[in-house]
Amino acid sequence: MPIYEYICRDCGSEFEELTLSAEEKPDCPACGSDSVDKKLSAFASCSIGGNFNAGSSQANCGTKGFT
Ligand SMILES: [Zn+2]
Repeated sequence: MPIYEYICRDCGSEFEELTLSAEEKPDCPACGSDSVDKKLSAFASCSIGGNFNAGSSQANCGTKGFT
């Protein structure tokens, strides 16, 4: 199940959501706004593959998920 990171356009709050669909947009937990932008999480980058030899990306893989 993918984890998506979002940033709120209204208050700038960043948060993560587990979503069933890439089209799904959650509301900001801080202010309730639905004006959120999706960011690509480190977890998703690792899942795609090809970044395991990219130095800092590898470090992110080790510290995020896969437990
Ligand atoms: Zn907000």
